[in-house]
Amino acid sequence: MEAMFPERNLKEGARVTRLAPSPTGFLHFGNLFTGTVAYKTAKVSDGVFYVRVEDTDQKRKVEGAIEVMLEGLRAFDVIADEGVVGEGTEKGDYGPYYQSKRKEIYHVFAKKLVLDGLAYPCFCSAEALDEIRAQQENEPQKGYWGKYAACRNLTIDEIEKNISEGKPWTLRLKSPGDAEKKCFFDDMIKGKIEMPENVQDVVLLKSDGIPTYHFAHAVDDHLMRTTHVVRGDEWMSSCPIHLQLFRCLGFRVPKYAHVAPIMKEENGGKRKLSKRKDPEAAVTFYVEKGYPKESVNEYIMTLMNSNFEDWRKTNKDADINSFPFNLKKMSVSGALFDMVKLNDVSKNIISLMPAKKVYDYTVQWAKDYDSELYNLLTRDEEYSVNILNIDRETPKPRKDIACFSEVKDYISYFFPEIYEKNYEMPENITSDMAKEILEAYLKEFNPADDKQQWFDRIKALCEPLGYTPNVKEYKKNPEAYKGHVGDVSTVIRIAVTGRRNTPDLYAIMSLLGESTVKERLSDAIKSL
Ligand code: GLU
Repeated sequence: MEAMFPERNLKEGARVTRLAPSPTGFLHFGNLFTGTVAYKTAKVSDGVFYVRVEDTDQKRKVEGAIEVMLEGLRAFDVIADEGVVGEGTEKGDYGPYYQSKRKEIYHVFAKKLVLDGLAYPCFCSAEALDEIRAQQENEPQKGYWGKYAACRNLTIDEIEKNISEGKPWTLRLKSPGDAEKKCFFDDMIKGKIEMPENVQDVVLLKSDGIPTYHFAHAVDDHLMRTTHVVRGDEWMSSCPIHLQLFRCLGFRVPKYAHVAPIMKEENGGKRKLSKRKDPEAAVTFYVEKGYPKESVNEYIMTLMNSNFEDWRKTNKDADINSFPFNLKKMSVSGALFDMVKLNDVSKNIISLMPAKKVYDYTVQWAKDYDSELYNLLTRDEEYSVNILNIDRETPKPRKDIACFSEVKDYISYFFPEIYEKNYEMPENITSDMAKEILEAYLKEFNPADDKQQWFDRIKALCEPLGYTPNVKEYKKNPEAYKGHVGDVSTVIRIAVTGRRNTPDLYAIMSLLGESTVKERLSDAIKSL
């Protein structure tokens, strides 16, 4: 076995990490997070990241689950160098990477432990185990250990007899641990850890010959030459078992990095991000909403390393992959998920994309999730790109879009099919005031204007109608005017777009074109 799966020939310091999901058919944001941590750990060291599927629990098997999982990872650029790379497709020299295909391999090591006197078959029935539990009521150390481990000292004859009678058995570790002693390890995230040694004769193989997580973890991570086991911190408490198992098997212990779960704030307290309660716990949520991978990855990095945001401030245009990710800078207690923050990060990222990229991403998203938007956008690509280009690629681009599902509403007034009229005016503007402004403007509107002329024309409307073109002047003496130039342009903006807040109105009107603008102004005048 050692010769079949030799040490990897990697450069000094290269780390081998893995993601080892069980195929449940659901990819939790926490899996993507832990997967990203493992992936980055490998990548920053020029190492290897692989995916191993932990499918020993056949009862929990879900059709298509692996593809769901890989697709979720792929969507956010967590792509394995090796291992399970597609449903049923494996790549690499350290496989099989499906635990269900590794039974013989586990048995080799199980036999070795038996030969070394470190494992034994246990014939205890469920009732016998219940009985042991009952006896341990006042015992601080529960479980199958020491004097309670009834099968620990069976003779070979007894064992043979039980087996020949066809009694089912499990294989247990003959734990060499001492409860009085401590085991130590240095977790890459949690720091120095000290726990009592394991004394439990844990099950290594179940009665069907399938390994438990503990045993498979030791055998797989050893043979696949994992250097850093990055996994959820729910496994921390099992570490004494794992350290002992590695030693019993004669394997070098890997480094551990136990990742705390992603938390959410609730009623002033904190709780784990929950599949049941939080839609954003599913990785599909981000795909369905159309968050670009750049945004999700950027946000995950802010959760992963608290110094990332400072780095970003001084490396604005740098590729995220050049950030020196460090396991030691991860949160020990669990990073807090914050939707508002994700949206801010994403708005910023999308604001910096060229219009064509936003267009391509949105079209790609709409193809799967919104056929109406897809049809509108692709009807005239140039028009759509121009819409998305308003107030973009400028020193201060607008940060309006957090995800592509927001684009439809954002651009709706450019398309008659989805434009919704709305003539609700600000409180200080009555319908009559608005009508008066629009009537005057309709007469003046000239599609040939450049931006300055366009604005000058709006300003020129002000005084005859009782408004001032000068906002400062208005603030000094508000009683003297009906309003200022901002109010006048707001009325025009609402009439043309149905909104109070939009990107550059001049650009919008230029794109809409003369006839649409005039039509909208007239419609508004009629409806007000
Ligand atoms: N299958 C285990 C889980 O999904 C893997 C833990 C590990 O990474 O070792 O929790």
